[in-house]
Amino acid sequence: MAGGFKAELTGCFSTPCDDNPTVVMLEAAFRHRGLNWRYINAEVQPAGLAAAVAGARAMGWRGFNLSMPHKVEVIRHLDGLGESAKVIGAVNCVIRRGEKLVGENTDGKGFLSSLEPVRDPRGTHCLILGAGGAARAIAVELALAGVERISIVNRSARRGEELAAVVRAARPIEVTSSAWTGELPIPTDVDVLVNATSIGLGDASARVPVAAHTLRPGLVVADVIPNPPRTRFLAEAQAAGCTTLDGLGMLVGQGVLGVGYWTGQDRPTVAAAADMAAVMRRALEEVFS
Ligand code: NDP
Repeated sequence: MAGGFKAELTGCFSTPCDDNPTVVMLEAAFRHRGLNWRYINAEVQPAGLAAAVAGARAMGWRGFNLSMPHKVEVIRHLDGLGESAKVIGAVNCVIRRGEKLVGENTDGKGFLSSLEPVRDPRGTHCLILGAGGAARAIAVELALAGVERISIVNRSARRGEELAAVVRAARPIEVTSSAWTGELPIPTDVDVLVNATSIGLGDASARVPVAAHTLRPGLVVADVIPNPPRTRFLAEAQAAGCTTLDGLGMLVGQGVLGVGYWTGQDRPTVAAAADMAAVMRRALEEVFS
């Protein structure tokens, strides 16, 4: 009897992992591509990360994603880093290349692929709420994509300053950072506002402290929260007439890049990438409907 019983393995290491819907969209993409591939959503504690990476290596996994809290710590278990991961200092996607495990960061590029159809980032002023891993990836890629100015607002001022320095090193644009205290008014010259904090994750009623009366039509408002995708922040922005982008767009964007890296087809045509993105988005929308 012929073979064909071996699936190629990919997955994600994080904790908690139960509310991460990535598995649904990636397995839909694999089916769409006719690939006998699996995506294992694994609960991995910090103390188990080294063993998890060694296990993936031993089993010949094609690659894996990292989510909270492993994106920085994983670096010392890898054999090399791609350009974005080096600049950002965090890895969300590992690719097996021959015997080597190489870390990339696709979060920021995933965000860009969701922003670009509604707003060309070149020459814009972007205000980013947060300075953690997601904010870092988004800010660096926005800078590299040609935004004119980035304002960072974060609860911890020190972390905000650190991110501002990382962005300036990536590209010498105007970057300011300030501490977040109370209700934040959004200046009228801001073109793109991004919630890159974890406020709203798993809690549709959680409120991002932004002065709602300063939101206005013409402003693009994006949220990184994938679950639930319809956040209170986006609902308030929509009510104020803003153009809104949910966290599923970013999730799909980085998923398309990940599948490209893992399958060795990292330069799909625009049509093929759009087709796969649509399959992934539909799979996620079914889950959340
Ligand atoms: P981090 O823990 O690195 O950063 C969390 C950020 O949120 C920090 O800036 C933190 O501020 C801020 N924050 C948390 N709680 C509050 C609060 N109550 N008030 C003000 N600020 C707060 O997390 P990540 O950056 O890795 O992830 C952030 C979110 O992005 C997560 O919800 C994750 O699910 C989402 N994400 C979505 C992706 C997608 O594809 N859609 C991809 C990657 C991440 P401080 O520094 O002061 O603690």
